[in-house]
Amino acid sequence: MSHSSLIVAKFGGTSVADFSAMSRSADVVLSNPDTRLVVLSASAGVTNLLVSLAEGQEQAQRAYLLDEIRRIQYAIVEQLTQPDVIRDEIDRMLENITMLSEAAALANSTALTDELVSHGELMSTLLFVEILRQRGLTAQWFDVRKIMRTSDRFGRAEPDVAQLAELSRAQLAPRLSETLIVTQGFIGSEAKGRTTTLGRGGSDYTAALLGEALHASRIDIWTDVPGIYTTDPRVVPGAKRIDEITFEEAAEMATFGAKVLHPATLMPAVRSDIPVFVGSSKDPSAGGTRVCKASQNPPLFRALALRRRQTLLTLHSLNMLHARGFLAEVFNILARHNISVDLITTSEVSVALTLDTTGSTSTGESLLTQGLLTELSSLCRVEVEENLALVALIGNKLSQACGVGKEVFGVLEPFNLRLICYGASSYNLCFLVPGDDAERVVQRLHHNLFE
Ligand code: ADP
Ligand code: ASP
Ligand code: MG
Repeated sequence: MSHSSLIVAKFGGTSVADFSAMSRSADVVLSNPDTRLVVLSASAGVTNLLVSLAEGQEQAQRAYLLDEIRRIQYAIVEQLTQPDVIRDEIDRMLENITMLSEAAALANSTALTDELVSHGELMSTLLFVEILRQRGLTAQWFDVRKIMRTSDRFGRAEPDVAQLAELSRAQLAPRLSETLIVTQGFIGSEAKGRTTTLGRGGSDYTAALLGEALHASRIDIWTDVPGIYTTDPRVVPGAKRIDEITFEEAAEMATFGAKVLHPATLMPAVRSDIPVFVGSSKDPSAGGTRVCKASQNPPLFRALALRRRQTLLTLHSLNMLHARGFLAEVFNILARHNISVDLITTSEVSVALTLDTTGSTSTGESLLTQGLLTELSSLCRVEVEENLALVALIGNKLSQACGVGKEVFGVLEPFNLRLICYGASSYNLCFLVPGDDAERVVQRLHHNLFE
């Protein structure tokens, strides 16, 4: 079979939350014969429950969390026409989860966490295959860990794109010509075979990586909103759907917190120029957003994104004015702690920066370890501010246009703008505001720039 018409379809947590959601998603798969590879998230809520178990819990809490997971998955099993086929397999998974959560209560390890958390995707894919089979479709379950080789940075593992291409060609492509394949998003395996995960929300990224490896003609991201909006429709109910958007604009939105796409999702799509479609599995007929190379007349203002729980570090040099190498030293320390800087502004004697938490389970607060603070404090005076939010205005040629500052900041008079970044990228203007003001800032800006 030629793969010129291969579509990789990814269904997120709410699209596989329960039996009816899975059935609707199965309808979406069936409606397009080009959809040959299906990538799934865990059923909504399951990953959070597993993460909680991995944090190590007392017996009673553990029992409660395990019951919740069992309840979510059993509710699906019980509605199958032949529940017995799959019940044993789900039971085996639940036994594994129980065993691993007991181990996690004794000793916490990131490898153990990933092993535990991966069961969400393992279970949802088993259940979905069964639902497809009961519709008379031949569908095969495929363990993505056989081909998704990653680094051993548990919790935020980096995929090996070259190996994935080779292994997909050998192990996945031949099966695709015979049958529909259902596989897991989010998980992978490192060189020793231990399970890894790609960071929260990573199933989008898996789908894009597989699309690239298999030279897919399109990547469909099915979620709970019919497309990418001018801002999160939960924050601004009047947000408008964007029918067509460029890779750059969408990538910028994802990076700055638009949860609808995992921040890394568009990298493989851009590299291999594969169009991405975002739509709602609840209402596929509502259409969606096409993400592609170029769009006609890209607007000056495209969208607003919001990222919560940002931590701002302000570092004041002790060595006073004109000291050389201060920034170099700061960056060295951050690099040693495996931290990348997100926003940054500098003055003669100080530097203010936020820590990059994109795509990880960590928040700024948790990246800020005692070790890091001690090292920084030996070099400079450190001030830490928490509970800030990053608001990003995404657009085109922003730094070349006149009047942007007035239009944006003119309406934000009542708010404290803690830090502003503008000019390094022509695609965005971003700033920090107190966390409690974030939604009102976005609503006000949206009203002014997009309504
Ligand atoms: P899934 O489980 O399918 O991966 P997510 O919850 O990760 O779904 O992403 C979908 C959610 O992203 C939406 O429900 C919406 O609240 C949020 N979101 C944030 N920004 C945007 C945006 N600009 N457009 C659409 N949805 C957005
Ligand atoms: N199930 C994982 C999560 O909740 C991955 C995903 O949904 O994309 O983060
Ligand atoms: Mg998601």
